Amino acid sequence: MNTQDYINLENQYGANNYHPLDVVIQKGDGIWVWDVEGRKYLDFLSAYSAVNQGHCHPRILEAMVEQAKRITLTSRAFRNDKLGLMYKKLSEISGLPKVLPMNSGAEAVETAIKAIRKWAYTVKGIPKDQAEIIVCENNFAGRTITIISFSTEQQYKEGFGPLTPGFKIIPYGDIDALKNAITPNTAAFLVEPIQGEGGIIVPPEGYLKAAEEVCRENNVLLVLDEIQTGLARTGKMFAFMHEGVQPDGITVGKALSGGFYPISAFLAKEEVMDVFKPGDHGSTFGGNPLAAAIAVAALDVLVEENLAERARELGDYFMNKLRTIESKHVKEVRGKGLLIGVELYPEAGGARRFCEALKDEGMLCKETHEHVIRFAPPLVISQNDIDWAFERIQKVLTTL
Ligand SMILES: *Cc1c(COP(=O)(O)O)cnc(C)c1O
Repeated sequence: MNTQDYINLENQYGANNYHPLDVVIQKGDGIWVWDVEGRKYLDFLSAYSAVNQGHCHPRILEAMVEQAKRITLTSRAFRNDKLGLMYKKLSEISGLPKVLPMNSGAEAVETAIKAIRKWAYTVKGIPKDQAEIIVCENNFAGRTITIISFSTEQQYKEGFGPLTPGFKIIPYGDIDALKNAITPNTAAFLVEPIQGEGGIIVPPEGYLKAAEEVCRENNVLLVLDEIQTGLARTGKMFAFMHEGVQPDGITVGKALSGGFYPISAFLAKEEVMDVFKPGDHGSTFGGNPLAAAIAVAALDVLVEENLAERARELGDYFMNKLRTIESKHVKEVRGKGLLIGVELYPEAGGARRFCEALKDEGMLCKETHEHVIRFAPPLVISQNDIDWAFERIQKVLTTL
């Protein structure tokens, strides 16, 4: 079978809910992936930051294989000997004392929303079914019905109603908007430290810290969606650490498994997590020993290979280099650590054709929104490989 055969097979039997680049990947190792024709590419997306540790990291692979030989699933009807270790590790690196494991990122966000609402009624004393959660325009938090209910992306919602009520939407990065939106029924402010899917939007310096103060003054929870920004991507273990913020809860996913397996979690202060009683919430696969063993190894790799530090240093280096490119297409280069967006002018004709051209140069990138190219390589990348990528990016941005 060749590339076209695999594409035809997917198109014949699959749902049409994605628009992938036409590269059929067969294998990966570190920052590199190979397609079915044997062509090699530098992966500059890292599966939306799920592969921060690099593809098929040997240490995570070993943990997975060893655990798979022993036991994979117990369900939470029984305990297992790996889950507590994952809790402890997550708690230690985040500073949040309590952990609730799920599978996908969207489920972690759903869990956060349930915790927020129950906290609103049982701790804050908001009247039944009146709790409001403030979110930001241009957010992304997953694809469930409740989560798309507070999306401002028309396509995400169109045709999927009736939607879930209880959300109030404000502009991102605007602290006065947050102040003005709070009412006695506000339970939480749920926000991404940097909007990833929204186009790598970095809020003004001090925004999260100011949001924390506003939340504290009003007895409103600050819950951060760190699914994309967390786990070393932006140059700290979590993005909230750049401003010394202490959130009441965070969601994590993606790189929590280094790309081996869907693993997510909601982490919170005791006052928030303690609202859950047996039977309130759960998941058959959430917290299974295979997932927990993988997560422990994935977190160990982040810490022991200093990947946050690496993301910070190489991110600064790379971003400065990108800013030297003289291209009529580039409107702005922005980001933090190795989460970088290059926004193109509308006249450039969309980021997609640049991603197609980069693919032909041996680099896999994906447009986010229409006009932004996202650069988010695995954090194990070397400076040499960044230089290699830079030359290709410069070529494509100046010749296309
Ligand atoms: C990817 C992402 C999610 C959703 O995660 P899934 O595993 O795709 O459900 C939620 N929030 C943010 C910020 C994300 O980037």
